[in-house]
Amino acid sequence: MNSKNYSPSGSSQPSHRGESSPDASSTHVPHVREDVAMAGRCANVHLPTGRTCTLPVRHPGACNFVEPAEAENVAVH
Ligand SMILES: [Zn+2]
Repeated sequence: MNSKNYSPSGSSQPSHRGESSPDASSTHVPHVREDVAMAGRCANVHLPTGRTCTLPVRHPGACNFVEPAEAENVAVH
């Protein structure tokens, strides 16, 4: 897996600590709907259409994006 972030400036500071990230358990994901993710869903957001994947989290295969109104049905409020 590609777990390293490459800084565009190239200036690495080994002694620098990222203290602004309290939750280290959450992996870096592009865009997810939190209310849908809380329902145990993939919650991946297809940005061009604004649709959300409502398949179970870590589902195999491609995402199944649905309308925002349909995503509301599985979202946790
Ligand atoms: Zn998905």
